[in-house]
Amino acid sequence: MASTGKTVLDRFRLDGKKAIVTGGGRGIGRGIVLALAEAGADVAIIYEKAKDRAEQVLAEVQAMGRTGSYVQQADVSVSTDVQRMAEEAERRFGEIDILINNAGIAHNAAAEDMTEVEWERMIRMNLTSVFLCCQAVGRRMIRQKRGVIVNVGSLSAKIVNFPQKQAHYNAAKAGVHLLTKCLAVEWAPHNIRVNVLVPGYIHTELVDPIIEKHGEMVKQHWIGPSVQNRFGTVEELGAATVYLASDASTFTTGEEMVVDGGYTLR
Ligand code: NDP
Repeated sequence: MASTGKTVLDRFRLDGKKAIVTGGGRGIGRGIVLALAEAGADVAIIYEKAKDRAEQVLAEVQAMGRTGSYVQQADVSVSTDVQRMAEEAERRFGEIDILINNAGIAHNAAAEDMTEVEWERMIRMNLTSVFLCCQAVGRRMIRQKRGVIVNVGSLSAKIVNFPQKQAHYNAAKAGVHLLTKCLAVEWAPHNIRVNVLVPGYIHTELVDPIIEKHGEMVKQHWIGPSVQNRFGTVEELGAATVYLASDASTFTTGEEMVVDGGYTLR
């Protein structure tokens, strides 16, 4: 690839880029939306249930001047909703530069007690949904002859979490990691990069009640094994996503970007 003549920091800029972020109304998704907007992108903030939360994030994005941004309802595990999401992005944005598949759900159940419904729900919500979004937007990126996709995987694709039992979640996330690599290979000829962001334990609002109720367990099993001995932040994931979504990472595809404070090192 020829030199772009851009400075290193210029390569991180996303001015004029158009992005979709699923589950952008709260938690890690919100952190990613704000980071992309700060770097210059307009963002389609996709929510399932919490419209008010998504609209709050939209207000923050618009305050940064990203006035082409919008919110849209879509259940990303339903293919007709995913088609609607992609069509709306195309209608509003023209072309879609960046897709971030962040939406996901968590659930705990021992394997011997898990129902088939629980298993299938987790696979559909955390793996099939990522495939559906990649396919719907990827077809458009193939036509455009360019695009960047970042899937949000998990530490749980690489280790078995303890003490919570979640074989279905871990298997779904491992599927997201390999799906990412498959798409990176299949779509490289179309100038599309596909990477997976791999968060460790991240401090979102959902974690506070768990810390309050199970502080000792959190210290021993979630924080202690991380060599940095702390939770990660959504800002740290936002920064890593800007790297993967921007021209700073043009030679990076099919990669697992682990942001876990060193949890997987030992
Ligand atoms: P949250 O539970 O805080 O947020 C989940 C988001 O996903 C919400 O915005 C929710 O939308 C959206 N969502 C859920 N189901 C659907 C659906 N069917 N269709 C569309 N959107 C949906 O999660 P986190 O921010 O903690 O996690 C985000 C991602 O990061 C997930 O993929 C998770 O597996 C992964 N992850 C999280 C870690 C952590 O420590 N928090 C660690 C490793 C990975 P709405 O609010 O509208 O319902």
